[in-house]
Amino acid sequence: MDLLYKSTRNSEEVVTASQAILKGLADNGGLFVPTSLPKFDVSLNDLAKMSYQEVAYEVMKLLLTDFTEEELKHCINSAYDSKFDTKEIAPLKKAAGAYYLELFHGSTIAFKDMALSILPYLLVTSAKKNQIKNDIVILTATSGDTGKAALAGFADVEGTKIIVFYPKNGVSPIQEKQMVTQKGDNTYVVGIHGNFDDAQTGVKNMFSDKELANVMDAAGYQFSSANSINIGRLVPQIVYYVYAYTRLLAQGEIKDGEKINVVVPTGNFGNILAAYYAKEMGLPVAKFICASNDNKVLYDFFSTGCYDRNREFILTTSPSMDILISSNLERLIYKIAGCDSDKNKALMESLVKEGKYNITDEMKAQLAEFYGNYAKESETAETIKKVYETDGYILDTHTAVAATVYDKYLADTKDDTKTIIASTASPFKFTRSVMNAIDEAYDAKSDFELVDELSSLAKVKVPQAIEDIRNAEVLHDTVCDKTEMLDTVKKILGI
Ligand SMILES: *Cc1c(COP(=O)(O)O)cnc(C)c1O
Repeated sequence: MDLLYKSTRNSEEVVTASQAILKGLADNGGLFVPTSLPKFDVSLNDLAKMSYQEVAYEVMKLLLTDFTEEELKHCINSAYDSKFDTKEIAPLKKAAGAYYLELFHGSTIAFKDMALSILPYLLVTSAKKNQIKNDIVILTATSGDTGKAALAGFADVEGTKIIVFYPKNGVSPIQEKQMVTQKGDNTYVVGIHGNFDDAQTGVKNMFSDKELANVMDAAGYQFSSANSINIGRLVPQIVYYVYAYTRLLAQGEIKDGEKINVVVPTGNFGNILAAYYAKEMGLPVAKFICASNDNKVLYDFFSTGCYDRNREFILTTSPSMDILISSNLERLIYKIAGCDSDKNKALMESLVKEGKYNITDEMKAQLAEFYGNYAKESETAETIKKVYETDGYILDTHTAVAATVYDKYLADTKDDTKTIIASTASPFKFTRSVMNAIDEAYDAKSDFELVDELSSLAKVKVPQAIEDIRNAEVLHDTVCDKTEMLDTVKKILGI
């Protein structure tokens, strides 16, 4: 029996895994969730003996049941190969009282590579399985990292085109340069005058535009999404939590079955939700520590039970977390609403209409495993400096938000449970902010001078992803207003 997926907003919409991957978003704006979460059928001790790719297969086979073993192994082995600069794929580094799970060893040096290096393979396989004749147009909104990782994953993949929208003034210079220098005949990059939420809303509107879908279909196109609302993003992210736990087990750092805590620097709530799904599948996790920057909607939500996006959007040094609408939270809301799609839909409609919603006490009681807090800009910078000075380990700004929140959690709770911190980007991606945190005098230098300084301070080679853009030519310069996203897509596709 195949594991099926249903929409969080309509219990009647039920699809297979490959169909959910193809569609990205459900018909009425809902997200696909598994109808039940299967339990691991291999022991943690056995998983501890496996490679990253083998663990990936054991986890993903349970969730993508309509893929054959051969198909899934092909996807996994094509994705997690020498594009990653370490055989471990996601190494764990012990530093500053925690285990940093380095998720930035892929081709674009942020954790989005963990899922986006496999998504194109999953999507192309899904298209074949479902006899899709149309070209697939990947439409993506990015706060900086998804865009490049998706572009790299889909560049020159036959039968696909990829269009990425990013906030023109809301990403780091290195992030922007990575995107606008992207090669590939099927890649399109557009800056918008607006913030990430504007980009994400524009993309979501196009997905649910039935008229547009018909015009596209007539021209031989259909949309899919590379955003973390796609279940094909979420499933591969469950893997590294299982991998990390089983490495701690293999190294004798924890006993079999011992619970750990997980700290995740959070934006769209995809990464932390993957950790939650890992627990539902049998991973021993005690607390999910949700770290926000000054855009602390989630902290307020976990504190009060009210999700309220009516506030100023703040640009921070951790731009990939500058988000006021955390899309994947909907999957958790649906769960704590007793998997009641009507209840969930009402809350999401209230978010659109009033910019906020309140959950009931009964729902809030189910969030006891979550702890939310946030880091102010000055605290994030202090953490980078402190961890560098005490451990010689250099955190990127997002990971430093997580480390700061972990310190606050420790001060609040005195909980000495072993803890994994998701390290979501290489410091080389946010070089200026990272180097300024260590010493403000660095601000006088150019971006690439700072890259070299960082390399010598961290005693880490400059990643290939940075070398690649040092002298790369700008290939994309389209900029549009946030109201012109639809027209821009039509122009690109010639429809
Ligand atoms: C995307 C991103 C995040 C936020 O992850 P979500 O899954 O959206 O919560 C955090 N850090 C970095 C570096 C990112 O690229």
